[in-house]
Amino acid sequence: MNVILFGPPGVGKGTQGSRLAEKLGIIPIAMGDLLRAAVKEETALGLKAKGYMDAGKLVPDEVVIGMIEERITAPDAANGFLLDGFPRNVPQAEALAAMLAKHGLKIERVIFMDAPESILLERLCGRLICKACGFGFHRHYSPPRESGSCDCCGGELYQRDDDREDVIAQRLGVYAEQTQPLLDFYSGAEGFFKIDASGDVQDVYAALEKAVQG
Ligand code: AMP
Repeated sequence: MNVILFGPPGVGKGTQGSRLAEKLGIIPIAMGDLLRAAVKEETALGLKAKGYMDAGKLVPDEVVIGMIEERITAPDAANGFLLDGFPRNVPQAEALAAMLAKHGLKIERVIFMDAPESILLERLCGRLICKACGFGFHRHYSPPRESGSCDCCGGELYQRDDDREDVIAQRLGVYAEQTQPLLDFYSGAEGFFKIDASGDVQDVYAALEKAVQG
């Protein structure tokens, strides 16, 4: 099964997506993670992407489209993939459709996760991520047992550079302007589901599982 998860920053795509992908036996492909890895490794694409990411803007389409094509056609994606953070605008969605047709692939579910802005802000401002394994925590809702270190692997926790209040506002603006139009693009499509992602982690996961089962 191939799945697209989309929705605003902070709605829980990363947390829920990796759990759902594991359950389905498919690989999670998070565009933001691919880009952060490229920035860390200082590849040519990473250096190009960094300024956009720090400013909360979208990285140019030609960069992300190329990266996604490489990833969804890799051998480990043969059983299926779950896209988190791609596509993020209509041109990317059109490029994805062409890419899927070219490789004889199909998307079975497009799941739109939504939550009010006040909840997104709370989630983003308190978010902490493990540098080593990428596991996510929240200062108030799911704090680590020991402050500053990951419950899973003991790695150091950090706040993403773009989880600062000014950059968050910019990211939410970009979302409203460029990503939300994807709702019109996908809402009539086969396998489209909209779920309420304002509840706690278990409730949202249950709604996602239901959507996947159809
Ligand atoms: P995320 O981890 O999904 O919140 O993404 C972090 C940042 O990576 C975004 O604010 C963008 O700068 C960049 N990014 C992630 N996905 C895309 C995409 N599909 N198109 C362009 N830029 C992206």
